[in-house]
Amino acid sequence: MQELDRTVPAPGDWRVELIGVPEKADVHLQLRLESVMEGVLVTGEMDVPVVGSCARCLDPIEDTLRLAVQELYAYAGSTTEATSEEDEVRRIEGDFLDLEPLARDTVVLNLPLAPVCTEDCEGLCVDCGERLNDLPADHSHEIVDPRWAGLAAKFGTPASSSGTPGESTTPEEN
Ligand SMILES: [Zn+2]
Ligand SMILES: [Zn+2]
Repeated sequence: MQELDRTVPAPGDWRVELIGVPEKADVHLQLRLESVMEGVLVTGEMDVPVVGSCARCLDPIEDTLRLAVQELYAYAGSTTEATSEEDEVRRIEGDFLDLEPLARDTVVLNLPLAPVCTEDCEGLCVDCGERLNDLPADHSHEIVDPRWAGLAAKFGTPASSSGTPGESTTPEEN
């Protein structure tokens, strides 16, 4: 068994829409390479720094993901190699084990499509565009459409506690 503990710079294409690994960021690999019947079993984990923006409020996100790695690299001529489709199995090319595609797949498949700054992020106010988490709980915009403003003034605000709104106080004809 061989241990591999290495920090490598990230290529620039480890990203999905809203989040990704900055180019040349330090990716830390801690892997065990184990010889098995069919090939070499690679297990371990990788620590990957990611930056992006929250899918709800667009605030910047900075985080480090710890991802589990487990993959078999098949020997040429092994049963696994013979019974698998071309693109289904990773192969050992001579003595060379190309870890980059494995690292890339592990990262890209684990990047969230809708990353959030915090689990309870409520996003943005549709009226003013401020983050709802930064605003008081009773935040609201009482915007009256100008076309209704005349009617609103005519009927007043139905906030009075005395009397029935809209009840006429005009004296009846005797
Ligand atoms: Zn957010
Ligand atoms: Zn608002």
